[in-house]
Amino acid sequence: MSDLPKVALVTGGSRGIGRACAERLAKDGFEVYLTYVSRPEEAEKVVAAINEAGGEAKAFRLDASNREAMTAFFAEEIKDKVSLEVLVNNAGITKDGLLIRMKDEDWDRVIQVNLTGAFACLREAAKIMVKQRRGRIVNIASVVGQMGNAGQANYVAAKAGLIGLTKSAARELASRGITVNAVTPGFIQTDMTAELPEAIVSKMLENIPLGRLGGPEDIASAVSFLAGEGAGYVTGQILAVNGGMYM
Ligand code: NAP
Repeated sequence: MSDLPKVALVTGGSRGIGRACAERLAKDGFEVYLTYVSRPEEAEKVVAAINEAGGEAKAFRLDASNREAMTAFFAEEIKDKVSLEVLVNNAGITKDGLLIRMKDEDWDRVIQVNLTGAFACLREAAKIMVKQRRGRIVNIASVVGQMGNAGQANYVAAKAGLIGLTKSAARELASRGITVNAVTPGFIQTDMTAELPEAIVSKMLENIPLGRLGGPEDIASAVSFLAGEGAGYVTGQILAVNGGMYM
């Protein structure tokens, strides 16, 4: 074991589910590196909250869809500088619309950030973890990637792709001591879901057996498990955290 700091990297760690994962992994004892793209002030709030709670964190502006920037980030901040124990591929966006009216740019952007970005980050992390012969990768997919959803063809395709990527990467990296799993959140209260009309929220609640929306910390608990000692024999799995929605 090296003396390098043990880092958990959380993409899109400045708000919502990513923030909860960052705070939880810091409590679990990792130094947390979190990325953001547009709101530095939110990222700095998370760093401050983690520091105040006695943990360590750094924030980096890194657009998940920018492959050159991704490669440069790993070369400059991760390789030979820290021990990369955990990657949480969480950065994600939606650009919803009915598919016959969906604009090319909305399709492309959602695939670029949610799927290609996750792939690029996973690839860089895996190069380092393979050398360490150790690592945990958790991809944040979605319940809709398992069941489909009208009005979200781009997002659903990206999340279903992320589930396939998870299963393939798990098989490829297992012999090097690296586990790769996905968490599929159901309906979680964050900025991403805050804009939904009341009528849609009530309709969704009817389909959630536990009778409530999830919180970001519900997803962070699952990520903490998959990143922790107890999940060493779990790989290639899709852990649904959705209040009991049947797929
Ligand atoms: P959110 O509140 O909208 O937060 C998104 C986070 O991702 C922010 O930190 C944002 O940073 C970052 N981000 C966005 N685009 C990025 C990019 N190109 N590069 C790097 N970071 C980027 O979203 P959330 O609800 O927490 O969702 C987090 C993940 O969970 C997403 O992958 C989402 O698809 C998935 N998910 C969410 C739900 C739900 O109900 N909320 C359900 C299923 C799955 P900035 O603030 O700097 O833009």
